[in-house]
Amino acid sequence: MKKPKIREVVEAVKALALGPYTTKFPKKPAEIMEEFRGAPEWIEDKCIGCGACAEVCPAKAIEFEDVINPDGTGKRVFTRFYDNCIFCGQCGDLCTTGEGIEYTTKWELSGFERKDLIETHEKELAVCEGCGGSVTAFDHITWLRNRVGYVAYSNPTILLASQQELGLIKPVRSDKETDDIDRPDFMRVLCPDCRRAAVLTEEWGA
Ligand code: SF4
Ligand code: SF4
Repeated sequence: MKKPKIREVVEAVKALALGPYTTKFPKKPAEIMEEFRGAPEWIEDKCIGCGACAEVCPAKAIEFEDVINPDGTGKRVFTRFYDNCIFCGQCGDLCTTGEGIEYTTKWELSGFERKDLIETHEKELAVCEGCGGSVTAFDHITWLRNRVGYVAYSNPTILLASQQELGLIKPVRSDKETDDIDRPDFMRVLCPDCRRAAVLTEEWGA
């Protein structure tokens, strides 16, 4: 019989003295390090509804849909699918405000039905007064306005959307096609396509 080497005997004695390296999970809850990056958590008042997190999520665990009502109001609805989340941290690291998502140490996510692992939240939407499409969330516009200061008021969409948000003016619906947008529509809340159409008219040599 092959005799054990001294190194192996030392390791065996150490293992007896120190106990097993493995844990008793799931009998005992796992001990999670404070630094562990687990499930992301959405922070409502720090999120501006820009949608960047949905764009960068590699697992398609975040989606958003813009819902527009006949009265010209709308909402941006975010859905988080925790059963798809791989805890990669892209959404929090690349969040526009840097504060819209916080990481938790939660990792053991399970449910009997998929809906148990789905969360939704909504943001009020600015609707284009040209084509009736979506512009972005009002909170996003407010954030931009605060970020760039008074220069923001050179942009009619930011100016008018801010006034709508304060309740000073009401949204106007025009139901025009983007092709029909013209210079007089310049002072409206417009999406990027309609803004381009209002600025780059034939009249101006575009
Ligand atoms: S942690 Fe990664 S996978 Fe999970 S929601 Fe954020 S970006 Fe998507
Ligand atoms: S502010 Fe951050 S959390 Fe909110 S939608 Fe934008 S990227 Fe996502």
